[in-house]
Amino acid sequence: MKYYDKLIFELSKPGRTAFSLPKAQGTLPKSGNIWRETPTELPEVSELDVVRHYTNLSQMNFGVDSGFYPLGSCTMKYNPKINEEIAALPAFAALHPLQPETTVEGVKEVYDQLDKTLAAITGMKKFTFLPCAGAHGELTGLMLIREYHMSRGDHARTKVIVPDSAHGTNPASAAVCGLNIVVVKSQENGLVDVESLKPLLGPDVAGIMLTNPNTLGLFEKDIKQIAELVHECGGLLYYDGANMNPLLGVVRPGDMGFDVMHLNLHKTFSTPHGGGGPGVGPVGVGERLVPFVDKCKVSGFNGNFGVMLKAYTYILSLGKENIKLAGKLSTLNANYIKECLKDCYKLPIDTVCKHEFVFDGLLEDNGVTTLDVAKRLLDYGYHAPTIYFPLLFHQAIMIEPTETESKETLDGFIEVMRTIAQEAKTDPEMLHSAPHNTPVGRPDETTAARQPILKYTQQ
Ligand SMILES: *Cc1c(COP(=O)(O)O)cnc(C)c1O
Repeated sequence: MKYYDKLIFELSKPGRTAFSLPKAQGTLPKSGNIWRETPTELPEVSELDVVRHYTNLSQMNFGVDSGFYPLGSCTMKYNPKINEEIAALPAFAALHPLQPETTVEGVKEVYDQLDKTLAAITGMKKFTFLPCAGAHGELTGLMLIREYHMSRGDHARTKVIVPDSAHGTNPASAAVCGLNIVVVKSQENGLVDVESLKPLLGPDVAGIMLTNPNTLGLFEKDIKQIAELVHECGGLLYYDGANMNPLLGVVRPGDMGFDVMHLNLHKTFSTPHGGGGPGVGPVGVGERLVPFVDKCKVSGFNGNFGVMLKAYTYILSLGKENIKLAGKLSTLNANYIKECLKDCYKLPIDTVCKHEFVFDGLLEDNGVTTLDVAKRLLDYGYHAPTIYFPLLFHQAIMIEPTETESKETLDGFIEVMRTIAQEAKTDPEMLHSAPHNTPVGRPDETTAARQPILKYTQQ
């Protein structure tokens, strides 16, 4: 039995402690409500037990610090350690959100600089840092669009157009904002179909939400025309910039004609995320929405300041010239993997991609599903790519290597993906039962997400 098969409660031995203190001279008075009725139920373990317990737990998880993490649409890029150092400086880390403003001039300077820097990168005029996540940013942006139309007495605009390839949060945010969602179809080549878009436009359109490059990793090359059409009908354009990675220093949403956008600092700008960790989804606005941006209070405080420091450090440590390489290298890496694997995995749209691309399962699947491939990758020490998203393909495998990985790492991954394709031919049963050497195999994911068991109960 492996050490981590035991819970810390099961390691408990009565009387075992992690400290030694001189025998107490007196006791607390048994008055008031100081004394507990019953002793706390804590495991009785040594210091070494505690250290091993937490160290082992940390190693059961997979992180970008422990291996390659090609999670499409999530931009799991490496978080440079200098980011952590800066965010941990006591002058930043010890701040209190209710401190008098006069004592936080330095912090305001950071916000101001980050605002200007993000505006320069995106072509927007001004950012708000209130939204705490990408989806929160989407809601904020849509509320701004609504405010804009209302301020003009234009009350009929209740429709938001969303492509069928969109990230699920897009229609969800529009619904939360009380807007009606209209889906625009993609063409065979994965891009928004301008001809299908035209009949949807009219005086009831509040705006359109686009991701560019879209969730298939493809650049919407008709974006200029789309922007003109939407503006002509009186609507505004929302840019989902969660993964703006491939565009850094190359093109700006502001120049493409977008009026409002969010960024995920916890994707594009290297700050860690996952497991619902802290994030910031700053929203940037163009000319039309500047008057509304500070009126939309979606949060009592700005998003996580530590995350902003890390993102700002990332930008400064790359600098104006090197940041232009991030987008290009992430694009090169994705195309390299795609080209090296397309003879064993089905590539539904065979074209140059940006930072990510989508396979639709194995070329010769022999009954092996995308889930089997993903689970088998874990046996080889790789995090699985995003699977079964986007919904356009039934066996979607969405790969995003990011710019931070070396050619050697990519080659290692490619080799393993080819090995798995071979295994699918020779031993499909073994793939159906993968993973074989991880602490957890194939939980019922819905139950695990909806009814997680988070506390110890004696069996
Ligand atoms: C991750 C992501 C979001 C949502 O961001 P959260 O911070 O998880 O709310 C929105 N759109 C796209 C394209 C994303 O990849």
